Amino acid sequence: MTAGALIYEGKAKKIFTTAHADHVLQYFKDDATAFNAQKRGTIAEKGIINNKVSECLFRLLEQQGVPTHFVERKSDREMLTKKVAIVPVEVVVRNVVAGSLAKRLGLKEGEAIRPPIVEWYYKNDALGDPLIADEHVRLLKLATPEQLAEIKRLALKVDEILQPFFADRRMILVDFKLEFGLHNGRLILADEISPDTCRFWDAGTKESMDKDRFRKDLGRIEEAYQEVLKRVCG
Ligand code: 5GP
Repeated sequence: MTAGALIYEGKAKKIFTTAHADHVLQYFKDDATAFNAQKRGTIAEKGIINNKVSECLFRLLEQQGVPTHFVERKSDREMLTKKVAIVPVEVVVRNVVAGSLAKRLGLKEGEAIRPPIVEWYYKNDALGDPLIADEHVRLLKLATPEQLAEIKRLALKVDEILQPFFADRRMILVDFKLEFGLHNGRLILADEISPDTCRFWDAGTKESMDKDRFRKDLGRIEEAYQEVLKRVCG
């Protein structure tokens, strides 16, 4: 598909205009960054895998009644999506203690979190995406209290759908990050859902099958991403 003008270039994706004013093209790169871009690298074929995994998961969520920006996968690295105004709040849902939660609160990695918790992070690279409270979302006018309630409802619904889906594929959905956008005044799920934005542990070995392999130099990164693609999209 012919991409138009580059609208935005992020760490892992580029966004282009298309001939259709309501649609944009997401191009998935192999570039990987961690720790607020202090660590950089590439993961071979990551863009192709994340595009396909996101397609499979967006289709599943749409079928189950979660509105998403997904329109069509156009090629190995290109996904056509609805044009949205991204809400600058990163929404993290946690089912198991890991990552920054373990570090911040001194909790033991691997403990189940029941019921799951939802956290907000201010999407702001210069500030290092800080953890914020509902009141900060209001103070910064990032979303209204009603929009925040709807985002939380949708995020928990995504978790309810994805947890059993991954369990069936011998994977533990530890935590994940979502982004939402406004489309014709309605909140819809945007961005991507992939091994870059989720923590997955193999149910048997508890080995990481996601970007933690890159963050922590665990090796066999490409192999893990390929395995996620195989288990998710079959
Ligand atoms: P943590 O806060 O423990 O570092 O991350 C929680 C979850 O959200 C992990 O699954 C992680 O991959 C995802 N996540 C948090 N922030 C970001 C981010 O800025 N970019 C990406 N790709 N994922 C993030």
